[in-house]
Amino acid sequence: MQAEILDGVQMSRDILAGLKEQVAALKARYGRAPGLATILVGEDPASVSYVTRKVRTALDLEFHEVQETRPAAITQEELLSLVERYNQDPQIDGILVQLPLPASICEQAVVRAIDPGKDVDGFHPVNLGQMMQGLRESCYVPCTPAGIQEMLVRSGTVTDGAEVVVVGRSAIVGRPVAVLLGQKGPGANSTVTLVHTATRDLADHCRRADILIVAAGVPGLVRPDWIKPGATVIDVGVNRVGTHERTGKALLSGDVAFDEARLRAGRITPVPGGVGPMTIAMLMKNTVQAAWRHLES
Ligand code: NAP
Repeated sequence: MQAEILDGVQMSRDILAGLKEQVAALKARYGRAPGLATILVGEDPASVSYVTRKVRTALDLEFHEVQETRPAAITQEELLSLVERYNQDPQIDGILVQLPLPASICEQAVVRAIDPGKDVDGFHPVNLGQMMQGLRESCYVPCTPAGIQEMLVRSGTVTDGAEVVVVGRSAIVGRPVAVLLGQKGPGANSTVTLVHTATRDLADHCRRADILIVAAGVPGLVRPDWIKPGATVIDVGVNRVGTHERTGKALLSGDVAFDEARLRAGRITPVPGGVGPMTIAMLMKNTVQAAWRHLES
């Protein structure tokens, strides 16, 4: 039997439709739309593509969208002053600085410079700290982990008491999603194991998972026989594995051997079209939430 495909494109459309209504309500009540400033440094093709999609979605939602692009040679001081400009701008509710930044710039310094109330990526230590404390209502949760949790809820995947294995411990995906799913509450309450390159018997851990979340950035890392029959598999990996002959576009693959894995899993996300669109939808949701908070305070 083939696994149910968790269609991130359709789920994100549903979320964006709800947000569109909220944008209309905000405009009617306060006379302005949510404001999002996106800052892109350099020309890394993956970053350009992510920012393009984020900007397009923001424009579709009729946000007040400001896009700033700067050369990779920008200094840290110049970037910090650009961030500060939008910290001070009352029309801007959310600031997104696309990561990674060039090696000459300290990413942490830039992330910490963003007003936590405008940190719609949820990477500022204040937001991460509040998320750790379970203060979800007052913080911004990082978009990819939030999108993964939303997919589990919307697909009816039971998380309560489930064995969850997260492959990868990055600060933007693996660690926060492990924290979110281990917390008490709906869409969580799981028993979580976080595995990485120092883990012994990686495959054995994965085989125990009712929900397997893979964010390693290694194409095809998870083999089909690592998947418990019927498990839900969330493939976060986005790997550029070639170029499309005719269109010249990048060919993408996840961290899971999809074609074989779907014969064993109960539910599985495709790449592309799984977690990626949900990440963008969560960014928009955080920005709308920021606008409500700013305008109601
Ligand atoms: P990252 O910072 O490079 O972290 C990768 C993690 O995976 C590390 O913790 C690493 O372990 C672990 N890992 C790597 N190879 C492994 C192996 N062979 N066995 C076990 N663990 C291994 O990556 P990231 O930023 O979390 O991104 C991961 C992937 O998700 C990338 O493909 C990225 O493009 C994608 N991504 C997608 C979205 C989306 O919206 N769809 C968003 C963010 C990221 P160590 O810590 O031991 O080195």
